[in-house]
Amino acid sequence: MTQARRRRSGMPRSLASAPWHCLLTARGGRLAGRPDQYDRFTVTEYKSALPDPSWAESASIIDGYWRQLRLYSVLIGETGSWPTTARIVAASGQTLEEQVNRTACEVEADSAVSALDVMNQALEGGANSSALANPGKLACGQCPFLAICPVFWSWCEASSWPEIRELAARGSIESVDPGMDGDLYAVKVSLRGRHGGGGPLSIALRRSVHGDLTGCPTGTPLRIVFANTRPDGRLRADISTCVFREDEIPEIRIASRS
Ligand code: SF4
Repeated sequence: MTQARRRRSGMPRSLASAPWHCLLTARGGRLAGRPDQYDRFTVTEYKSALPDPSWAESASIIDGYWRQLRLYSVLIGETGSWPTTARIVAASGQTLEEQVNRTACEVEADSAVSALDVMNQALEGGANSSALANPGKLACGQCPFLAICPVFWSWCEASSWPEIRELAARGSIESVDPGMDGDLYAVKVSLRGRHGGGGPLSIALRRSVHGDLTGCPTGTPLRIVFANTRPDGRLRADISTCVFREDEIPEIRIASRS
């Protein structure tokens, strides 16, 4: 943006020159994030889809999106220019819109920073990070770390594989059919817990989407996340699904400060 255009828009220099995928920080750097888009008035969060209103957790998911936008509003506001409107836009074009309530945004940010302080103090005091985690259907179901999170998998085993919206499962390879076209192939997997009911399951995968597991020997342990269900209720992979060899997943270790 040229200086003249920036002056006309009234946008501060720091914001006007910021590409909207850049990392913004607030509250002394303890709050950080990348808003999807911000113009002079509106902060927008893009989602691939909005939750089906018939889902029990739909309202909580939408509330989480608004919470995210309240925090983005603070990140933008601390640069000197508060947005007036917050929007959630789905790929379908469906749009939700709210006026930005600055007080509510500040409260949200203070609450997030307080929670961060509490957690950091507990870790400084030697608390076990696993004991601080609070796994649940809603939080874990949307969490990008669930494939590598040891707390999540322990919770699944202990809770009879709770029905999160996009399924997660664990098992081992029984056999592989490499397919004919160089892309589509099938793995037969024995899954643990209720996902394994009905015996070994053949799952269609694509090398171009899910990676190539055709060289894996029998018995290779797998983790499957963000899976969908077939009409018979059993698990299937779609374009969102990720499949990992368990022995290739990095182990999380908490470093000691001393
Ligand atoms: S998957 Fe792990 S990190 Fe993510 S919300 Fe669940 S417990 Fe927390």
